Amino acid sequence: MKRREFLRLSALTAGATLIPVKTLAAEEERLDPSDPQAQALQYTHETPVEGQRCDNCIHANGDLSAEWVGCNLFPGRLVNAGGWCSVWAAR
Ligand code: SF4
Repeated sequence: MKRREFLRLSALTAGATLIPVKTLAAEEERLDPSDPQAQALQYTHETPVEGQRCDNCIHANGDLSAEWVGCNLFPGRLVNAGGWCSVWAAR
């Protein structure tokens, strides 16, 4: 195999493997409501309590104007800005 051909194939292979990994990582960051810890705290992507949302909860962190925000109770994962769980507390 010539050097040029090797480099071209290497670039194609690297691109093909990186795209699915990046997509999976983005999906994994969002908290699954069926996660045992999420279920224990009755987490839901859509709040059942008017005025209580993840983006106005004291435990939320990061960019609170985003659709998905960080939460101190679920490190490494994102919760829906309009979500809710049983330990919501006013910010
Ligand atoms: S503690 Fe509950 S309500 Fe507050 S940001 Fe986290 S998941 Fe949302």
